[in-house]
Amino acid sequence: MDNNYFIPERRTLLKGFLGLIGLSALSHLEAFAKKGYLSETLEYVKHKKELALRIPVRKGDSYYSLAELYTGTQDNGPKIQDFNDNVPLSNISFVPERLLRMSLKKVLGNVLYKKQFVVYEIEKWGDEGINSLWELIHDFMNDSYDFYEKKAIILCLNFNINPRSDIVYDEQKIIVPSSLVKTELIRKPKKKKFEVPKEKPKIGIAKQNPLRVDISYLRRNLDPEDKYGARRLRSLGGGRYSATRHTGIDLDCPKGTNLYPIQKGRLIYLGKDRKLWRNGIIAEYITDSGLRVKYCHLSRINKNLKPGQEIYLSTILGKSGDTGNARGYEPHVHIGVRKDNKVIDPTSYVFIDS
Ligand SMILES: [Zn+2]
Repeated sequence: MDNNYFIPERRTLLKGFLGLIGLSALSHLEAFAKKGYLSETLEYVKHKKELALRIPVRKGDSYYSLAELYTGTQDNGPKIQDFNDNVPLSNISFVPERLLRMSLKKVLGNVLYKKQFVVYEIEKWGDEGINSLWELIHDFMNDSYDFYEKKAIILCLNFNINPRSDIVYDEQKIIVPSSLVKTELIRKPKKKKFEVPKEKPKIGIAKQNPLRVDISYLRRNLDPEDKYGARRLRSLGGGRYSATRHTGIDLDCPKGTNLYPIQKGRLIYLGKDRKLWRNGIIAEYITDSGLRVKYCHLSRINKNLKPGQEIYLSTILGKSGDTGNARGYEPHVHIGVRKDNKVIDPTSYVFIDS
């Protein structure tokens, strides 16, 4: 990652302003135009013959809260108030650059002038989603600063976040400096050499894994990012990344692998997911024990099956593939399980030693 940052040179800025700042080569994370995300107010300007950051003011802000957020200490409240000629706060205020938090200074130039930022989109799946800013910062940003510095940076860049609540909501878009992205969470296509798993259909047992293969095959191919609850950043293009928790498990397998139910039950649906494009072609069924199970990203379905009909451990529901947002990644089947209408970890229902 590109680690050099922009330090405003006061003399240059005071003389000729910002036109002189060159754009260096952008890393793969930010090679896109990202207009309309940053507040237009947020800008380095000249104020009272000094370099200053022009900032948007939130409802309920005071000079003390601005001082805390932008400089790291409330003690600078009176100085900022003085810098703003002691006027009551309106929508816009000015903070002298010399007082800004060091962490903020370091990222701000890159964000404002090199557009080195990405946009996280919260992707919430029912009660299993990302629900707090704490979780987003803690789990999806790297450790280049401590939590409170990162939170201050996020609040300074994202005027639409209420600093007094910790809530994030579904589909919320949050600007994150590229240098703070936890890049290891970004999903990359894998390159695996698959051996075709040998099916081991056993008559007379009540539970099985969807591939009907030896459990050691599943263990070998389950990477940390494929597990239930794994944090993921998935590129949506244009510098946008969806931030999600994985709500099922992904079993890698060659395209065309037969998929069976994990228990006997009744078919609910086979075909394209009409609600969520990203799931691709799905198979959904309810087991006699009351689990609602969904397989995603299938390449083909068994056309002889009809919704409502009974299915057995020996029933082939369809074949694995890479439809939906699995396209471009290794073929796999995503298995999601709900019990009493709650998403649960499918691992114990899929990893069955037999
Ligand atoms: Zn998955």
